[in-house]
Amino acid sequence: MKIKSAEFVMSNSDVAKCPKSMLPEYAFIGRSNVGKSSLINMLTSRKSLAKTSGRPGKTQLINHFLINKNWHLVDLPGYGYARVSKSSKKIFQKFITEYFGLRQQLVCGFVLIDIRHKPQPIDQEFMQLLGENGIPFSIIFTKADKLKPKAIDNYVNDYKTILLETWEEMPRYFITSSSKGIGKDDVLEYIDSLNNN
Ligand code: GDP
Repeated sequence: MKIKSAEFVMSNSDVAKCPKSMLPEYAFIGRSNVGKSSLINMLTSRKSLAKTSGRPGKTQLINHFLINKNWHLVDLPGYGYARVSKSSKKIFQKFITEYFGLRQQLVCGFVLIDIRHKPQPIDQEFMQLLGENGIPFSIIFTKADKLKPKAIDNYVNDYKTILLETWEEMPRYFITSSSKGIGKDDVLEYIDSLNNN
């Protein structure tokens, strides 16, 4: 899919105020600093559509972008920022649960995982939450330029082994690097195929 246009629509802290439009929606989420903003900018070929975060975990906003005038890309706040208090973690959980619970136009959630880090309980718990609520999701491994191809294979195999302890099958996954432009076409083609389904 060629990105012909990418426009910011709105930022919300309230799920109920998100666009009413029923255009198909794809949400991107992951731990703070996972490389989400860089990935969104790579996918849309825009330098700063999503703001790369100087202060992770600071803003908890749902950002809608309209792509090619026919689908929404949604930038969700990062989770798992160590310095966030317990009460804000609870608010975050509610906010995210509401987003995934209420947005019927959501076609797929993309859970971003930094390929340099061992599987983290918070990511597993998050995928569990999506699974239990029947929300389709895929995994996007980020920062693949940081590992050699063999190390990527090993990492993904280890990740699969861990996931398959609780899941029947490995969700669809993508290997990406925003700095090297890896995986862009795979993710966009996948979105295109879902849009045309
Ligand atoms: P966000 O907090 O998840 O939105 O993450 P950002 O996109 O702001 O990136 C966090 C940090 O990771 C920044 O220092 C980026 O330069 C770096 N980063 C993001 N993507 C990549 C990548 O593909 N490769 C490498 N090597 N670094 C990356």
